[in-house]
Parts: sequence; C-alpha cells; structure tokens
Amino acid sequence: MPAFEGLGFKSLAPGAVLGILGGGQLARMIALAAADLGISCHVFAPETENPAFDVVAATTVAAYEDEAALARFADAVDVVTYEFENVPAATAAFLSQRKPLHPGARALAVTQDRLSEKSFVADLGLAVAPFRAVDSLADLEAAVAALGRPSVLKTRRFGYDGKGQVKILPGMDLAQAYAAIGRSPAVLEGFVSFAREVSVVAARGTDGSFAAFDLCENEHRDHILAFTRIPARVSGSTEATAIEAARKIGAALGYVGVFAVEMFVVGEGASERVVVNEIAPRVHNSGHWTSEGAQTSQFHQHVRAVCGFPLGSAQRRGRVEMENLIGDAALRWHELLAEPGAHLHLYGKREARPGRKMGHVTRIFPEQG
Ligand code: AMP
Repeated sequence: MPAFEGLGFKSLAPGAVLGILGGGQLARMIALAAADLGISCHVFAPETENPAFDVVAATTVAAYEDEAALARFADAVDVVTYEFENVPAATAAFLSQRKPLHPGARALAVTQDRLSEKSFVADLGLAVAPFRAVDSLADLEAAVAALGRPSVLKTRRFGYDGKGQVKILPGMDLAQAYAAIGRSPAVLEGFVSFAREVSVVAARGTDGSFAAFDLCENEHRDHILAFTRIPARVSGSTEATAIEAARKIGAALGYVGVFAVEMFVVGEGASERVVVNEIAPRVHNSGHWTSEGAQTSQFHQHVRAVCGFPLGSAQRRGRVEMENLIGDAALRWHELLAEPGAHLHLYGKREARPGRKMGHVTRIFPEQG
C-alpha cells in the first residue's frame, strides 16, 4: 500500500482511534458510523461548540496552525481524516508526517484550488466548462471577451455554497464584478445551461477498490443543496459515464476515502452528457440519503476506507429522496417525526440561522416498476 509507505500502516482494527479535522455535521455523522465499527473518534476543531462534540470520545479545541496541539492530536490517533476541503496545506503536511492522512495531501492540493482542479479534470480527458485564469481586471476583460456572457467568475479558493462567485451578466460592469470577489485570484467559467445537476458519491479503498453509489440528482436553492433524488433522471449510459469519470478522478488522485464529483447534465436524448463542475474530497451532502437508502452509508464507507477495511456494498434500497432542513425548516421536527417512514437527522445546532444546515430527512419508496 504505497500511501502508507514508511508509516508501516496496513489496516487498523476495531478499537483504533480515528482523528477528524473539523467538527461539523459531517464529522458528527462520520463519528456515529465509526462507533458502529468499534472505532472511536477524536475531533480537532478551532470552535468551542461543534455538532460533532456531542458524539465523540475526545476533542481538541485549537487552531489548525497550533503545532503543539496538532502533535498531541497525532499522538492520540491512529489515522487522520477531515470533513472539509480547506484544511491548510501546512496542517496536512504536519499531520501526514506523523500519521496516515486520508484523503492525502494531493487530493487536498488539487481540490482546494478551482484552477488546479479544472486543469486536473480536463487533463484526464473529462469535460469541464471552458475556463480562464483571472489574476487582474485585464485578464477578466479578456476572459469575458473569449467566453461571453453570461459566464461565472469564481474565486480559486475558499468558495462554497455560491460564496466567492458572481454571474457575469450582459451589461454588468467588470470592475465591480471583480471587486465583488475581493479581486482574489479567480477563474472565469463559461456558463453551462444544464438540464440537471448530479453528483457521484464514491469511495476508494487503500487497495484501490472502488464503490460508487447510484447517481444523485440535486436541486439547489440560493446555491445551497435543498433536495436530492435517486435515481437521477438520466439515461443509464449517462450514469455509467458519470461514474466512470469519478472512478478515473479517484484513481488519478490515489484517493482513499469517500469523495463527491458534482456535474452538470447537458443535452438530452442521444446527446445527453455530463460536464464536471467540482470535486469534494470528503463525504458530501448529496450522499446523506445513503444512511438509510443504501446497503452501506457514505459515512460507514468513509470509515471503512480510511481504516483500510473492505468497502461495503453501495447498493441502493429503493427510490430515495433527501430533503435538507435549512434554517427554520428544522422547526418541523415534530411533524417529521410523526410522518411514517421519514428518517429525521438533526445536527444538534442550537440556533436555526437562515441558510444554516440544521438537519435532513430521508424518505425511501418502493422502486417504480
Ligand atoms: P460551485 O460553487 O462551483 O459548486 O457552483 C455553485 C452553483 O452555481 C452550481 O451548483 C450551479 O448551480 C451554479 N454554477 C456554477 N458554475 C456554473 C457554470 N459554469 N454554469 C452554470 N451554472 C453554474
């Protein structure tokens, strides 16, 4: 297992300790799954209040730059993973010298920067939106001249849920658009007029094994995932192409763990095809349905992968819908608990702020014949 060379790591056993960077709902759900497998979790996060802290055996509250705290954390765990892609490169390097880090530093480096991510995906021969690097207003003007309007200006780093992103519309002043993203290093993407948004959520094991869940079809509201349905309404060959694209990406990154590849579906009928938008090197909101909707949840699958255990079956159990509970929607908890067959997950966040992911609900229906 080359990923572990020099660290003498083959596979862990139940009783091991999984270190997780970040303490949000994804860490919380990873920790709950880890507990099922006899693995206890230690969360390292800078915030004092975290959804994951309710369910883990140990916590460290410290900055990601605090090397003394990181060293103690590394001593206390057997393997390290993370729930968010913006782990500082220095933190990842520091930890990976001490304990196996999964997914590895390469996956982080490629996916933290939209320019390197797009170039990486395009170099694999996969379709991406046409793009240009933007490092100045002159670059932006040239890129808009080349890609036209509408187009989408995105910061290279730290963008999520539509943050750090501006749609360049006809007549829009480019200096203002550039100012709106803080004149940060950016990419301009050609606008993709997509029929649907989909994602592949998949796992890759330390031995290179690969297991993808069925393609997820995603609906966003205000740039935040609102709803996922499985199966996605695409042809079987489009789904197979999407999953093959994810397999290729995982292999090229030498990836270990669960990841998601977000894609646009364009065209219809025989010309239906996918365009890769973004890679998330972590468990993903569009995979939350797997907790009840698949033989193995994405969280169990992630724990299995990073511990070097065999991957589980990704087989779906029916037609599935996942609804995110954003802000006040979580106040419906009582009604949802009373709904037969609705699987409610709440993240234990104290305050239901607008736009904040508070929980989700999964519903499983018999497969349509
Ligand atoms: P991202 O931050 O890249 O995931 O983008 C957030 C959302 O903006 C996507 O889910 C799409 O709905 C939309 N979007 C992003 N890039 C494009 C594009 N090139 N063309 C059309 N819509 C886009």
